[in-house]
Amino acid sequence: MTVKIAVAGAKGRMGQLIIDEVKRFEDLELVAGFDVRGAGDPLGGGVLVSDASKLAEVLKRSGAEVLIDFTTPVATVENVRVAADLGVNLVVGTTGLTEDQKTEIGRSVDGKVAAVISPNFSVGVNLFWKLIEVAARSLEGYDIEVIEAHHRNKMDAPSGTAMEAVRVLAEATGKREAVHGREGQGLRGDEIGVHAVRAGDIVGDHTVLFAGPGERLEIKHQAHSRQAFASGAVRAARWVTAVPSGVYAMANVLGQK
Ligand code: NAP
Repeated sequence: MTVKIAVAGAKGRMGQLIIDEVKRFEDLELVAGFDVRGAGDPLGGGVLVSDASKLAEVLKRSGAEVLIDFTTPVATVENVRVAADLGVNLVVGTTGLTEDQKTEIGRSVDGKVAAVISPNFSVGVNLFWKLIEVAARSLEGYDIEVIEAHHRNKMDAPSGTAMEAVRVLAEATGKREAVHGREGQGLRGDEIGVHAVRAGDIVGDHTVLFAGPGERLEIKHQAHSRQAFASGAVRAARWVTAVPSGVYAMANVLGQK
């Protein structure tokens, strides 16, 4: 049995890698790819890029079982709505979604399909989120700073991965507030400092620094290539076809929760 996969953002950095990854497996079949540019370009195996406006029509015709979406927040909200209405399961990697957009996505998916939604599909980052939670609970009262670095073309800041780290840390420390960057006069408070570096072609670095009297602990993840995200997303696509409807995290796919 092959799983039929469609990719939204097929011409993007992640979309292209995901398509290459899908092609590596005999139990997966690429049946469609969507983008706002490059309609008609070949994606391999006789599949051509479809214009994003044809999403519903091509999803239906191709018999896609999963749509992997790495696009933009506005596009993702619409793509999820269309796919869920057609009974197509979802893997969503787009970051920078607002709380309202996340709620809307949850509403679209509800009771219709299964969706794995994660700001980071790498195995290492999913462990990183667990490690920082343990550290935050153990190092009571320590100052916490989250520092992330990404390539100059990244649209959203701080990264979705950093914001998930902040959520985990806030929960573990009894709801400490995030303070983004610092400027001017004043001492730090009982807060989580967040800093976003944008430069060159950095794939994605995340560090959480815990500092207390006379010591500091740094927990750091560095992505060396986007391959880690692509293989995680494809792993999630295979998994999502076999679970009941609902919204899942990558930790569910990895058996971490
Ligand atoms: P990218 O290279 O800009 O690719 C996004 C692609 O989606 C572009 O080709 C874009 O076209 C296209 N697109 C825009 N609207 C569309 C629509 N309605 N339907 C189909 N395609 C559409 O960006 P990327 O680096 O691949 O990243 C994409 C998203 O994934 C970002 O939010 C990024 O932060 C996130 N990301 C997540 C993970 C993770 O593990 N979760 C890892 C890496 C990246 P145009 O360029 O013409 O607009």
